[in-house]
Amino acid sequence: MLILKSLNYSYSDLEPYIDSDTMNLHHSKHLRAYVDKANMLLAESNADFNGNILDTYNQILNSNSAQKQALLNQLGQVYNHDFYFEGLIPADSYQAPNGKLKTLIESSFGDIKNLEQELQEEAMKIFGSGWQWLVLNKESGCLELCSSNNALFPDYNSYTHLLVIDVWEHAYYLKYQNRRAEYLSGIMNIINWKIVDDRLKQ
Ligand code: MN
Repeated sequence: MLILKSLNYSYSDLEPYIDSDTMNLHHSKHLRAYVDKANMLLAESNADFNGNILDTYNQILNSNSAQKQALLNQLGQVYNHDFYFEGLIPADSYQAPNGKLKTLIESSFGDIKNLEQELQEEAMKIFGSGWQWLVLNKESGCLELCSSNNALFPDYNSYTHLLVIDVWEHAYYLKYQNRRAEYLSGIMNIINWKIVDDRLKQ
């Protein structure tokens, strides 16, 4: 069974950039619904969750399950949300990138400010519901930005996932309404660069 992973911080800890009500709704209602529905569909499909979402995703992708697309949607949403929530940290614990990550950011984007700016610009372009990613291109060894729609994520055979920002409206609409740019600039204060560094080393 998939579980609803608990957060490494409380719902109010990302204030003022992401408000407590949004975090509560996002985690305890939206993510919980994806987890519950994924478990229900896995049971209906007689499919096993083997403890790793991406492995399970791949198994389903290569199966003939009647519920295939619905199941991929739920699993993708659980994976993306866990990745998003783990990539955030309370502002008072924020640490700018350093070491190898900093060097890589500088060689790929010039500097951290430029990366943050490009990240926000790309996230502004997403039409409909989607996700803004920072990834490592495994072939070139460079960092890249890319987006995915709905419940999709970048191909993990070609790209190491480093960071994702949820750009579905439910991630920001309560506080920011249609002001996506304000959500995006706010979230730059609560990026967990330490975990990005860990993900880079995996
Ligand atoms: Mn979401």
